Amino acid sequence: MNKNLTYKIAVLPGDGIGPEVMDGALEVLKSVGKKSGIRFNLSLGLIGGVAIDKKKDPLPAETLKLCNESDGVLLAAIGGPKWDKLEPSKKPETGLLKLRKALDVYANLRPAKIFSGMEKSSTLKKEVIKDVDLIVVRELSGGLYYGKPRGIKKVRNSHQAVNTMSYSTGEIERIAKVAFEIARKRRKEVTSVDKANVLECSQLWRKTVEEVSKSYPDIKLSHLYVDNCSMQLVRNPRQFDVILTENLFGDILSDEASMLTGSIGMLPSASLGDGVGLYEPVHGSAPDIAGKNKANPIAMILSVAAMFKYSFDLEKEAESIEKAVKAVIKKGYRTPDIMESGKKLVGTKAMAKLIRDEL
Ligand code: NAD
Repeated sequence: MNKNLTYKIAVLPGDGIGPEVMDGALEVLKSVGKKSGIRFNLSLGLIGGVAIDKKKDPLPAETLKLCNESDGVLLAAIGGPKWDKLEPSKKPETGLLKLRKALDVYANLRPAKIFSGMEKSSTLKKEVIKDVDLIVVRELSGGLYYGKPRGIKKVRNSHQAVNTMSYSTGEIERIAKVAFEIARKRRKEVTSVDKANVLECSQLWRKTVEEVSKSYPDIKLSHLYVDNCSMQLVRNPRQFDVILTENLFGDILSDEASMLTGSIGMLPSASLGDGVGLYEPVHGSAPDIAGKNKANPIAMILSVAAMFKYSFDLEKEAESIEKAVKAVIKKGYRTPDIMESGKKLVGTKAMAKLIRDEL
């Protein structure tokens, strides 16, 4: 028992299916707390559409304060048609972007894992997809999305657009360290992805990652060009453990990797900086199934496991959640989004309860 451990968690259910999947995840979290003796102090906060309705602000100051004072933030999903016509600065999405910026998260972690028995959900062949378990570590706050100069200007009778890809040694070092540390908790392999045959940014990237790797002699480092990596992901995804890459390449490769599993309702994500980490499912608020007890709570439940692993160093507790999910899938229980013939159909609440009971 770990009775002396206490963690403060900001809980932001948000909109649509958010509150439903969050309820399931909190059930699992509380059960882990009971079994391990670890205390989790949960505080609810408003974000997204529900915050606009109640506070006229997609990220009220009290929510931001709560997040900053917590050890970890669990967020479900934001947005929905009700708020789609608001001007951009007042939309639910602005609340989420502001939160990511305020927490200064620079590493985005997107695992893609195939659970045994779920290979049919993928569009790829079973023998290609079997046992895939990889994670994309994407640099989130630099590169082409933020570099200056940027813009579109008129040149004679035409227009010219400019974006700038820029990285400093420091920016590359800190994300590389995240990837190497994560690899230490996994199979100890990092594939750094760049375009060093063409781009100077990538040449600095490769050189810096090589330098950082000297402090991690236990981790095997290899390099791939981004075009090759995108091919390898569909040719033989099992070869990857940790994929480390910059912002634009990571944006594309993490979506490609997540589609290997074929089920958006199963995928967690983590955004990390030097302070509080933000944990959320990859999916959105799914307004089409909100309030119908149809949402798959597994992505949210696995986000709790990711928070245990990456922010709290509670490796054993994280594993117990992952094992429980695996067992329930193996027993054939499925929410509608991952249903196959011959399996047992359950709703959001029943799926969460099955996972909790399996712990
Ligand atoms: P979405 O992820 O909400 O839904 C896409 C499809 O996947 C829908 O058919 C939905 O029913 C299904 N789906 C998603 N999560 C599921 C789950 N857990 N279980 C079962 N099925 C699930 O994406 P969208 O429809 O493009 O966007 C809906 C709203 O969510 C929009 O307002 C969008 O802005 C917002 N959004 C929020 C986030 C976020 O909070 N991080 C991310 C993406 C989209």
